[in-house]
Amino acid sequence: MTMIDPNKPLSQEPPTFDAVVVGGSHAGMSAALQLARACRTVLVIDHGQPRNQRATKAHGWLGWDGVAPARILEVSRQQLLTYERVQWSTDEVLEASGSLETGFLLRCASGKPYHAKRLILAHGVVDQLPDLPGLAERWGETVLHCPYCHGYEIRGTDIGLLVAPRKEAVDQVKALSQWGNITAVHAGELSGADLEELSAELRTIGVNLEENALIGMTGKATLNFADGRGRDVAALFVHPHTRLASDLSTQLGCAIEDAGCITTDSAKQTTVPGVFACGDAARFAGNIALAVGEGALAGVAAHRSLLGLLADD
Ligand SMILES: Cc1cc2nc3c(=O)[nH]c(=O)nc-3n(C[C@H](O)[C@H](O)[C@H](O)COP(=O)(O)OP(=O)(O)OC[C@H]3O[C@@H](n4cnc5c(N)ncnc54)[C@H](O)[C@@H]3O)c2cc1C
Repeated sequence: MTMIDPNKPLSQEPPTFDAVVVGGSHAGMSAALQLARACRTVLVIDHGQPRNQRATKAHGWLGWDGVAPARILEVSRQQLLTYERVQWSTDEVLEASGSLETGFLLRCASGKPYHAKRLILAHGVVDQLPDLPGLAERWGETVLHCPYCHGYEIRGTDIGLLVAPRKEAVDQVKALSQWGNITAVHAGELSGADLEELSAELRTIGVNLEENALIGMTGKATLNFADGRGRDVAALFVHPHTRLASDLSTQLGCAIEDAGCITTDSAKQTTVPGVFACGDAARFAGNIALAVGEGALAGVAAHRSLLGLLADD
């Protein structure tokens, strides 16, 4: 991460926007669009790392099903930037401070500062994959996490599932069985007794748990096991550890849910008045349609807040 010099004085008064949106992907652009259409000045700051950038196609969003994620964002951005009061900055926001009363001050990796009357956090999350060789390179291609996004394309095939070392393993297997023939695998964290218990439970629903630990992936989607065997599958489903892509919400004092996403009310306002959050950052169930919908809610709420019409302002 780029560092900024906190002692460097601001050379001039930063430009002030009605709203600054941190993150210019599905949620952020959707929020910005509502504010633009309300004739407000909006700055979108984005550093170009949307969560699904490794996927070649996005699915499950009506009207855009099967379209490349980069293409969806390109069209969205073209439409947004036709509004004369929208500005775009390719940059990373590193610091945020302030309040509804004082306005919010942002500092970017480039050193540029901005003032915002309202702030919308749409910076998404980052996924940390299980630390096994070959998984990261295949992420979004044959290493997947969401069957609703990618399951239909590999329906009826052999599918691997790296079970999480927790109680939901059986439920995970049952859900994924809708799409294909499941081989459950583990990465060696389960104790011998847990392994036996899970194996017995899975047998009752007709699913085999590989006894040997998965040690990596090669080829298109070959699972490699500790005993030297390999097994070809159409894809391996995993449960990445997901965390917020930025700590701006904690810098601002926003409450965070136990699950790790930013707490918001039904208008997508965080616990800090004037700060809104939407998309994956405010809901860990990653889905483009939900991100766009919540972005629209946040954009409208930020506008109503500017007008003093939002409850709790
Ligand atoms: C491999 C994969 C495939 C997926 N496939 C599908 C699918 O087929 N269908 C579907 O509905 N969903 C899919 N998803 C989920 C989908 O990608 C997310 O739900 C969606 O991208 C969330 O949108 P967002 O705007 O909240 O966040 P993101 O799209 O992740 O965008 C966040 C943006 O904020 C920017 N950002 C972050 N921090 C900062 C900062 N400090 N300063 C400036 N900018 C910042 C990032 O660069 C990024 O552009 C997939 C996810 C993954 C991981």
